[in-house]
Amino acid sequence: MGKKYIRETYANDVSFTIEVEQHLHSEKSRFQQIDFYQTETFGTVFTLDDLIMVTEKDEFIYHDMICHPAFAVNPNIKRVLIIGGGDGGTAREVLRYPIEALDMVEIDERVVRLCQQFLPLTASSFDSDNRFNLLFANGLEFVANAKTGAYDLIIVDSTDPIGPGEGLFTAEFYRNCYRCLNDSGILINQHESPFYTRDCREMVRAHSKLKKTFPIARIYQFHMPTYPSGHWLFGFAAKSLDPVQDFKPAEWGSFNLQTKYYNLDLHPAAFMLPTYLKEILKGVK
Ligand code: SAM
Repeated sequence: MGKKYIRETYANDVSFTIEVEQHLHSEKSRFQQIDFYQTETFGTVFTLDDLIMVTEKDEFIYHDMICHPAFAVNPNIKRVLIIGGGDGGTAREVLRYPIEALDMVEIDERVVRLCQQFLPLTASSFDSDNRFNLLFANGLEFVANAKTGAYDLIIVDSTDPIGPGEGLFTAEFYRNCYRCLNDSGILINQHESPFYTRDCREMVRAHSKLKKTFPIARIYQFHMPTYPSGHWLFGFAAKSLDPVQDFKPAEWGSFNLQTKYYNLDLHPAAFMLPTYLKEILKGVK
C-alpha cells in the first residue's frame, strides 16, 4: 500500500507534507470537513477543510501566545469571551488565571466533540469548570447581540477567512467586539501571516479594519512550525492599553504560571517586527 500524507498547499508551487501513520477519523459536519491523523513527528494532527489547525507537538506555541500576552498587559482580566477555539487549547490557558467567567462561542459542536475524543491534550478544558460557559453559535451573531462593555478580553481563535470563519474578519464583527469590550478591553485575533501572498492579503485586510476600529492596533509574531511559512501573527487591539508600554512583568510573574513558549523577555520582543512586515504595515490605511 502507498504511503498517505497530509498535504497543505501554501502557494501554487509550494506545499507542506506530513506522513500519516493512521487516519483516525474523517467526517463532514454542517460547516466543514474534519479530520484527525496520527503522525510520528507531530503526534495527533487535527485539520479543518484540509488545513492544519492543531498538532500535539506545536499547539503550546499557539495557545501560549494567543492567551498570555493579554494577561501580562491587564492582569485584572476577569470576564473573557473566546470566539471559535473548538479544540479547547485557548480555553485551557485562559482557565489557568483567576478569572470570573469564560464564555466560548464555537459554531461547530462536532469540532468540540471530536477533539474531546481525539485531542484530550487541548480538549481537557471542557471538563467541568463552573466559570466556563460553552455555547454553539455563530460568533458574528453572538457579538452583535452581546451586552455593551461585557468583556475585559475577547480572543478570536478562528479558522482562516474562508467558510464559517469569513464573518470573523469583517469590519462589522470588529465593531461589535469593540462595543462588547469595556474601557480597558483587549481583542486578540488570529491574524494570518505576511509571507505567502494569500495569507498576506488577509493579514493586511484584517489589520486595516482593526486600525479603523480600535485606537490601538498592534501585531505580534510567533514561530509556528505547522502553519504556512512558520511565521504567524496575532493582532492585539485595545481601547486604552498598549501591549508594550503597559506591559506588567512583575504582576504577570506573580501568577506563577509555568509556560513552555511565552516568557517575559519574549513579550516585548514579539511586538518588534521584521523590516519586510513593517514595510507592508506602513502601507495599510
Ligand atoms: N488554531 C487554529 C488555527 O488558526 O488554525 C484555529 C483553531 S479553532 C479549531 C477554529 C474554530 O473556529 C473552528 O473550530 C471553527 O469551527 C470555529 N469557527 C469558524 N467560524 C466560526 C464562527 N463564525 N463562529 C464561531 N466559531 C467559528
